[in-house]
Amino acid sequence: MRKSLWAILAMVLAGGCAQVPPEMQVVDDAAAALGGKDRMQSAKTLVIEGEGSAPNVGQNTMPDGELPVWKVTQFKRTIDLANRRTRVQQVRTAQFLFANATVQRQNQGLDGDVAYNVGPDGKATRAGDVAAHDRRIELLHHPITIVRAALDPAAKVANLRQQGQEQLVDVTTAKGDTLTLAVDAATKLPSRVRSMSDNANMGDVAIETTFSGYEEVNGLKLPKRLTTKMDKYLQFDMQVAKNTVDADAGDLAAPEAVKSAAAPAPAAVSVTAEPVGKGIWWLAGSGNHRSVVFEFDDHLTLFEVPVNEARSKAVIDKARTLSQKPLAQAIVSHHHFDHSGGLRVAVAEGLTIITQRANEAFFKDLIARKHVIAPDALAKNPKPLKMELVDDELTLKDTSMEVHLYHLLDNPREGTNLFAYVPRDRILVQADLYDSTWQQHLWGENVLWNIEHRKLRVDKDVPVHGQIEPFAQMVRTIKAKSSIPAGN
Ligand SMILES: [Zn+2]
Repeated sequence: MRKSLWAILAMVLAGGCAQVPPEMQVVDDAAAALGGKDRMQSAKTLVIEGEGSAPNVGQNTMPDGELPVWKVTQFKRTIDLANRRTRVQQVRTAQFLFANATVQRQNQGLDGDVAYNVGPDGKATRAGDVAAHDRRIELLHHPITIVRAALDPAAKVANLRQQGQEQLVDVTTAKGDTLTLAVDAATKLPSRVRSMSDNANMGDVAIETTFSGYEEVNGLKLPKRLTTKMDKYLQFDMQVAKNTVDADAGDLAAPEAVKSAAAPAPAAVSVTAEPVGKGIWWLAGSGNHRSVVFEFDDHLTLFEVPVNEARSKAVIDKARTLSQKPLAQAIVSHHHFDHSGGLRVAVAEGLTIITQRANEAFFKDLIARKHVIAPDALAKNPKPLKMELVDDELTLKDTSMEVHLYHLLDNPREGTNLFAYVPRDRILVQADLYDSTWQQHLWGENVLWNIEHRKLRVDKDVPVHGQIEPFAQMVRTIKAKSSIPAGN
């Protein structure tokens, strides 16, 4: 009798063990494959060094063209696992024509909820809450950090499903962030991590990092290659040269002055309106993306709805204060993300979009995309996309105003760019052709050739980036700083 009781108890206990929820079993298996729960939990620091390439999403010459790429060297991510601190240092070098510093050193930290950036002088300044959130999620895009987070008793693991050769579970961390962990069904090693995010242009996007080339280091299995994509775009492809476990990682705590400083609020949007000719206003203010308003007989036309919804809505509102006439059209100079960021709000406000024909499919896609995570104006108030497409040139003309739009030809950086010319005032309106603050003007000679080719007699540049300048000054600056480095 006594013996059978023990036997029953043993069966109950064994049964209890077998009843680890199947979704948690996936996490346990992953932990075992990575070196065992104990080793995972006892690891204190992780240093990942390597190099790779980081495409510049939203800045290609054509909307479906290859992305310009930053070459990343001296990449070093240091993680203090126990204290949830990290530091990323890297050098990136532009492999494309770029108007500003082509070599950039970056040094970014995260200490709990405090994000900070370290300048070249070693001075740390606090970064905003969005940066803190993004870096916290990014830190979880690694097998060790995501599985440790999933093992936390305060985490929730749910929604086990099989997809091809992978088992997927959703992990909601103790902090409340939800990510999807995929584990290879054969090796039990994490194959990828996915998180969902909102992108101003693209709306709901999956950010996914795949792991491969696992090696064993100090009792842990660590990937040698990490490839991160945002939606269909490659964001960072990293080859790890060296993984180090439990090295002295130094002090990754945010400096006291940073911790006690308030997180900087997102910059307030302001829009000013400066008349630059009869019925022409330059809308500047905060930031370095300006717009221009043209007044026709019975309507207004806006040149550029840039950056994002907040900027573009403020610009649209400002334009509507300048005249009783309705704002009817928005010229979108080109498809780059910082110039098409207001496309959706412009459509929601009922404006007809005027743009170069090569943007048609891309803009239709941007309008059709889901914005569920952070519903924008168009998601809340769907409107059809009205487009007027320009091939080589288009003249907008009535008795009040005459504006010529031209496709910028043969430019190595800008494949879909439309610039404007007002013959009455000899004003050039342009985006990304020239900015007086740029360090170099690598495509400036092409811009001057385009102006000559169209036989324009420009007196004044009224730009989207930078300040209004006499055209003669623009030409002088381009001539002085247009030297293309040897080898290009
Ligand atoms: Zn630009």
